[in-house]
Amino acid sequence: MLSSWWDLAEWSFIHGNGPNKDLICSFCEHIGNYKVDYEYIKHKPNSKKELIYQVLMCNNCANVTMVLWSKPLHGHYPDAYDYRRVPWPINKFTPPEHWPDKIKSYWKQTHECLKNEHFDACIVMARSALQMAIRYAGCKGSNLWQEIELLGKSGKIPPLMIEWSHELRKSGNHSAHPSDDTVMANKKDANDIVYFLDFLLEYLFDLPKRIADFRNRI
Ligand SMILES: [Zn+2]
Repeated sequence: MLSSWWDLAEWSFIHGNGPNKDLICSFCEHIGNYKVDYEYIKHKPNSKKELIYQVLMCNNCANVTMVLWSKPLHGHYPDAYDYRRVPWPINKFTPPEHWPDKIKSYWKQTHECLKNEHFDACIVMARSALQMAIRYAGCKGSNLWQEIELLGKSGKIPPLMIEWSHELRKSGNHSAHPSDDTVMANKKDANDIVYFLDFLLEYLFDLPKRIADFRNRI
């Protein structure tokens, strides 16, 4: 958590020479296709630290993104940067490269279903992503209930996330096996489930990678 905007990027893991080449347009999803409409660089008094303010116009759809970014002055990684932007993408489009391919596919389908308001399909895909993620985490059983229990015993995620995993499992079953009195899933249900899935995948795949990258650099 930043305590001062002058600390922006000081502990960043994002590598590159600023956000412009990597930034996804929140409107048309094109990546790094901008014209800099306005730029102002503010230097910290008695320091080489800079905060860079930019207004970027997307060359594809002509919508505008405002960015504040910086490079670290004292951080471990001099080739890093960090940024904040308005507006930000409301939907996620591209899974991280380091995730296993099958998880990327289920995750992408989950988010596409959410974006298109196919809430039951979204929850079924999220359940599949959950099961695949748990198996990649080395917990294979004869059914998802057993695999979640194995994940709990492995200590790889805290008990609260195990409880949530079971909630996702039950919701997935509910959406996949409807009965005459089935209540269809709504947007809030699907949003909560996707939020949890994203958090789980970050915990199982992103945090270990960050730690491994950190150890490789020091
Ligand atoms: Zn655009």
